[in-house]
Amino acid sequence: ISNGVEQLGEMIARASVIVPFTGAGISTECGIPDFRSPGGLWSRNRPIPFDEFIASREARDESWRRRFAIDATFKAAAPGRGHRALAALYRAGKIPAIVTQNIDNLHQASGFADDHVVELHGNTTYARCIGCGLTYDLGWVRQRFEASGHAPDCATCHEPVKTATISFGQAMPEEAMRRATELAAQCDLFIAIGSSLVVWPAAGFPLMAKRSGAQLVIINNEPTEQDDIADLVIRHDIGDTLGPFVGN
Ligand code: NAD
Repeated sequence: ISNGVEQLGEMIARASVIVPFTGAGISTECGIPDFRSPGGLWSRNRPIPFDEFIASREARDESWRRRFAIDATFKAAAPGRGHRALAALYRAGKIPAIVTQNIDNLHQASGFADDHVVELHGNTTYARCIGCGLTYDLGWVRQRFEASGHAPDCATCHEPVKTATISFGQAMPEEAMRRATELAAQCDLFIAIGSSLVVWPAAGFPLMAKRSGAQLVIINNEPTEQDDIADLVIRHDIGDTLGPFVGN
């Protein structure tokens, strides 16, 4: 454990392929609460597991009610210092793609091409039919929800429509898992940022990178599950740590 910012700068300068792996902590300064910090989303609401969402119309209604309640927060959020610093390294050609557990679309908003953001847990800024996979914008869902008082089903196949996120108990997206595995194996520097590293299988990627020979850096203001395997742990605010790399 160190404040290690200088060492991080040297590691970044030496590395040729850097893969960042981000969690909710990179977006807290943008006004989006994380899960596990005090005041985080979990202290307010128990997450609704996938099988419950499928089985119960009440659960679907509740899930959408919660999503609409937090909509203004997601809409107001803009990329923070951490997002901007990573986007600068991406533009400089140091980062081929980013792996994220976040669902907030802020890496795309900071300048990463859609195709270079590997989303392990999906994206909450649009919706998807769980049957046929058709995507919907949230306005479509909201309009129908408000008109009928209930979560709408797919206009085509009549299966439930859910935010395009991965709920507990839902299958991981295969293509994203494949790409994240490939990136973890290819990189020479893997930086886990703002994740408590307890949600599996996502939390397996730092170890995977390490086993493939990458150096591992963890940036988080609290201890994580995997600090002891890291080459460098920076236990400090993310924006303060990464901001100086882009001059703020
Ligand atoms: P987490 O809530 O388990 O962990 C976040 C970590 O970041 C915590 O250890 C916290 O101490 C740290 N942190 C918070 N603010 C920080 C800051 N400014 N500087 C340094 N560290 C900071 O998050 P997770 O590991 O990403 O797992 C939660 C799951 O919830 C993810 O799978 C994700 O899909 C979902 N989620 C996403 C968002 C989002 O998209 N922004 C928000 C909440 C939850």
